[in-house]
Amino acid sequence: MTFGQHIEEQQVIDYVLGNLSEQQEINITEHTEQCSKCQAMLADWSQVLQPESEIDVKPSPSLKEKIWEEKERKQIPKQKIKRHPRLLWVMGSVAVLLFLLVELLPKTTVPNYTANSSFEVMHNGEISDDSIQTNPQTKQLEIESIADFDDVSGDIWVNDRYEELLVEVEGLLNRQDKDYQLWLIYPNNTMKGELLSIENGSSRVLIKGKDVSEFELIKASLEPVGGSKKPSGPDSFIVELGD
Ligand SMILES: [Zn+2]
Repeated sequence: MTFGQHIEEQQVIDYVLGNLSEQQEINITEHTEQCSKCQAMLADWSQVLQPESEIDVKPSPSLKEKIWEEKERKQIPKQKIKRHPRLLWVMGSVAVLLFLLVELLPKTTVPNYTANSSFEVMHNGEISDDSIQTNPQTKQLEIESIADFDDVSGDIWVNDRYEELLVEVEGLLNRQDKDYQLWLIYPNNTMKGELLSIENGSSRVLIKGKDVSEFELIKASLEPVGGSKKPSGPDSFIVELGD
């Protein structure tokens, strides 16, 4: 490129946009170092086409036309660029889906576990057999209140051979806005919740099944009416069942 020939404007634009070969770039760099006219043209296009430029440029009408033409010419690569947000959106959705899957898996294993748990529950009048209370192999544990909102007392009878566990508790509050929920807690900290049915401040619950020997803790807490999936309210009592 001799000094007599100025750089074509289109080449300057491609130079700014990085569309030229390395050799073409060198040619333009060498020319603009010596030619103030092309240097100025390069500076103008650099300001216009590089959005990160902090210089406030007000292109002339003819310049605007050229930019518009340039954008039209670049329409195909621009559409390619446009797909990126869509691709990102798909990748984002997949990530969210995977996250939800991982997040939900431990929660779905809890119902699975409790579905495998085998025991039945009887309340108050449904309990017809009291023999657990008098059997010599039955272990008796005292219920003591740990709360300041109530003052419960009672006993828990456990008989592994019978596969039975009886809870008898009194001093329960009769609240319209809360339910007492009994929590049968396994060693791996999974648990099963059972609402207490209260009659005159008392409740009896008989648990019958092979899981009785597995329970590590029994506790009761105040929960929103209808009960919770996990204990959320203040505890009324906690009894350790360990041997
Ligand atoms: Zn020149």
